[in-house]
Amino acid sequence: MTLCFATNNVHKVNEIQALLGNSFNLQSLIDIGCTEELAEDQDTIEGNSLQKAQYVFDKYKVACFADDTGLEVEALNGAPGVYSARYAGEQRNAGDNIRLLLKNLQGKENLNARFRTVVTLITEKGMHQFEGILKGAITFEQRGTQGFGYDPVFVPEGFTQTLAEFQLSAKNKISHRARAVQKLVLFLKNSVLK
Ligand code: IMP
Repeated sequence: MTLCFATNNVHKVNEIQALLGNSFNLQSLIDIGCTEELAEDQDTIEGNSLQKAQYVFDKYKVACFADDTGLEVEALNGAPGVYSARYAGEQRNAGDNIRLLLKNLQGKENLNARFRTVVTLITEKGMHQFEGILKGAITFEQRGTQGFGYDPVFVPEGFTQTLAEFQLSAKNKISHRARAVQKLVLFLKNSVLK
């Protein structure tokens, strides 16, 4: 079965192709001829994930899935959430986002947070969403050089290092995205291949 992953991140495509195995031929947006930037202007993670998958399904008539992720911080009532990429402004700069996050957390005792990914699958049989969560806490001391986004200030539950101190392969074993994708893979294997 051919399936489009609504991303141009080759690394993400390869990683998920490996999880899916040979029964699935995974394509990126470039592979299907989609070069325009996909809108993601909804006010929920679910909404953005659906918006991207729906656009590709409607325009290119291919079975596809899309992901969207946010960092949800308890003391900030779930912010930055769906606005994680542009928390400090449209420049979408990770350093600026982290600085604003730590500023807004000054004086707060509860530093619990979680990453939440929602993957939306759309095929001609319908729409399904899969959620992956990684719980942890924010640390004021930025550590590590791996990863991206908020990784230098996020310590996963049960660990002492930040996500930016994890090797990519280790992060991929526990991450919110991996958890959501594992649910997607299980669903596809059970529904499409039977
Ligand atoms: P996206 O939906 O995967 O593009 O993620 C939106 C934003 O959430 C990113 O721009 C990052 O700021 C943040 N984010 C998503 N996943 C991660 C992660 O694994 N580590 C750190 N930050 C992340």
